[in-house]
Amino acid sequence: MQERLALTLLVIIASGAGIVACGGGNGDGPAPLPDAGPLSCPTAAPTLGIAGEVTTESFPLTFDETGVAAVDVVVPEDLTSLALVADDGLEFTAFWRVAQDGRIWIDLETDPDGLRTPFFHTWNHSASVIFPIHETSALAPGCLRIEALSDGAGLGATLHVLARRRAEGGTLRVDLVQVGATELPGATLDALALELETVVDATGLPIAIEVATAAVDGDPFPRAEGDTALALRGSYRPADPNRVPIYVIQGFRDELDTLGIAGGIPGANGVPGAASAGVIVAVDAHLTEDGEVDVLLMAETTAHELGHQLGLFHTSEAEGLDHDPLGDTPECDADRDSDGDGTVSAEECEAQGGRNLMFWVSGDFSQRELSPWQRRVLALSPVVR
Ligand SMILES: [Zn+2]
Repeated sequence: MQERLALTLLVIIASGAGIVACGGGNGDGPAPLPDAGPLSCPTAAPTLGIAGEVTTESFPLTFDETGVAAVDVVVPEDLTSLALVADDGLEFTAFWRVAQDGRIWIDLETDPDGLRTPFFHTWNHSASVIFPIHETSALAPGCLRIEALSDGAGLGATLHVLARRRAEGGTLRVDLVQVGATELPGATLDALALELETVVDATGLPIAIEVATAAVDGDPFPRAEGDTALALRGSYRPADPNRVPIYVIQGFRDELDTLGIAGGIPGANGVPGAASAGVIVAVDAHLTEDGEVDVLLMAETTAHELGHQLGLFHTSEAEGLDHDPLGDTPECDADRDSDGDGTVSAEECEAQGGRNLMFWVSGDFSQRELSPWQRRVLALSPVVR
């Protein structure tokens, strides 16, 4: 039973240091969002995207004396999903406020720790958000004001906007990227690619998946956090920027049991070189007693981390107290902890989401289920093209 982390480090700069794994939560949240005042864009504000297509546009982030960079854009009637990425090299960034006329979606001022459902947004490296992330977070047509922050100098900071103006579906393209001298005992990257395609097909996702393989130089045993992991995530730059990198390492030097870690919920998808672009999965945490790779388990880990990277939280967190923001996913509560060890296992929650791809921990059975809305969030991803 090993944990799958979404991201190891969300340092909460505004309120001192804090470390959390995946967000999620029905616990004591922050105060309700403040009322949004009227909001209108300048007439020069661009309308996002192209009808019938999925596009990526970039805007320079220019920070004012308060440290905020604002970009006004117009959401068209036919927008089906939107991803925002604030990239400032290896620096922490965040969205200070994302607002529409009459509605504030994200407000770091009243929610500095990212406790508010459904986005659980706070600082990350190349911080990202997607709309919708649950049933009622699709953007309304009209003006959208995006205000970003950077912990760095802000020189060359960029807002990437991925706008989808067509229905869900298409092809998710991923690359399994072997890092340095990483080896897969008893298996191959191609075998993992095939199994990953099988797992994704089994989830019932209305998308195709195309898996290719590649390699980069790098430390096969990076630490789970810090500059090496960040640099690794940005080290593979495919010609097609919408291919999601899955870095295959030997192990996390400081967390040898950790199966994999995503770049964020969501990560910086479609922005190669960003510090939260791509997920990392560890070979040695997937070895059987015979010392060979459990390819099936590793494929499920890879699909799970891709789920985070594209915007899915854990259906239930370790203690059974926190759950994802989706209304149609099964929840496993703390009273299922029949052995009293303080955590809810996949086996204890078998009928309450233990078989869901996004359960917090692996189990002794396969985990390939997704709810309709989990599938929808993934199939609307702007990197599914
Ligand atoms: Zn996870």
